[in-house]
Amino acid sequence: MRKIRTNLINPVSADQTELFKDYIISIEDTVITEISPFKPDITEPYEDRRNEVAIPGLIDIHVHLSQYRMRGSYRPALLPWLEECVFPEEERSSQRQYAYSVSKDFYPALFRAGTTSAVIYTAPYREACEAAFEIAEDLGARAWIGMTLMDRNSPEGLQQTTDYAVEHSMELYWKYHDKTPLLDYIFTPRFAPTCSEELMRRISDFAIENQAWIQTHLSENRDEIRWVKELFGYHSYTELYQAMGLLTDHTIMAHCIHLSDKEINILRDSGASIAHCPDSNFYLKSGEIDLPGLISQDVKLALGSDVGAGTSLSMLYHAKLMNYRQTAFPVSPELAFYSTTLGAAKLLHRDKELGSLNVGKQADICFLKLDDDLGEQVLPIDEDFLGKLVFFGSELPVQETVIAGRSVYQAPSSR
Ligand SMILES: [Zn+2]
Repeated sequence: MRKIRTNLINPVSADQTELFKDYIISIEDTVITEISPFKPDITEPYEDRRNEVAIPGLIDIHVHLSQYRMRGSYRPALLPWLEECVFPEEERSSQRQYAYSVSKDFYPALFRAGTTSAVIYTAPYREACEAAFEIAEDLGARAWIGMTLMDRNSPEGLQQTTDYAVEHSMELYWKYHDKTPLLDYIFTPRFAPTCSEELMRRISDFAIENQAWIQTHLSENRDEIRWVKELFGYHSYTELYQAMGLLTDHTIMAHCIHLSDKEINILRDSGASIAHCPDSNFYLKSGEIDLPGLISQDVKLALGSDVGAGTSLSMLYHAKLMNYRQTAFPVSPELAFYSTTLGAAKLLHRDKELGSLNVGKQADICFLKLDDDLGEQVLPIDEDFLGKLVFFGSELPVQETVIAGRSVYQAPSSR
């Protein structure tokens, strides 16, 4: 049991966030058991962390583990970047030892950034995916992890046979779906150009039958969209995925930048969600997502770092960019914060357990430092605090990250 005296910032909805100054939060086993105002007559021992703020552990709904080391490798557009930067790096993860070492770098980096849940793509090798699961379990990460699938239009060293892709995905699903409470498998066709119709149909048949998670990319870049049209001939990219059975309420589609109104409606009606990755979209000059359009049509949406096209694992940095990457639409701090906490948990159908600090929920918490090294409080917890958190929270040192009650990261100065 831990009792911590601190301040709390809690998302309630896309336009409401609560702020609690000088509270006690108690953690027992894996859950939050108490949140109440601090009372001076408290008799139990507690940790005095009034110079910090506790926020819900951040959620990254789109990240490529096997691309972690190649952030910043630049090409001016999606397709050459994939060909020249991503594919050679992912091929390195065909070596077991390399795959393990990337995983061992990746999760501690997530924890240092205050991220407690991540939806992950690994390289297209079973061993690389298993390495990601094993290290995640070892270190205490909460994650949905999938082996990237590609059975055509791919370099020789990366291309799978359709049977390899389907059979190993299913085996990985059965092995990890129920193995631990923190981990799940997610079916991960990379994107339509590298996937045959047979592959997509076999994956979606299985996923629908088992209510399993699916993730892929949709409508990121105009050359990619043209290529999909040439390869498959469907009226639109979204209608192709619809015909393949990939649009379910357990599906996360990354990017979705250039959708027509019809495609937006199809996506919304299917219950599928969007992983919005503003950093990546501008890095690769893919374009500006139509946030006002998607929000007005009630499409579910949350934030992804999209590392390696994204440059940082800090979801507070991406929350800032959600605002910065809109030319005219003012993304409020409340919406940006919600999109990497409770909104993301909701999209994952886990908002009863994750995404905010409430009694009974999982103790997934990030503690940020507010003062400087002299102990002087530099950030007052006042009505403007949320704006500061979203617009420069990525500069606040993460003091501790807790997942399901387990402390997975502590800043060297706080140990
Ligand atoms: Zn991606």
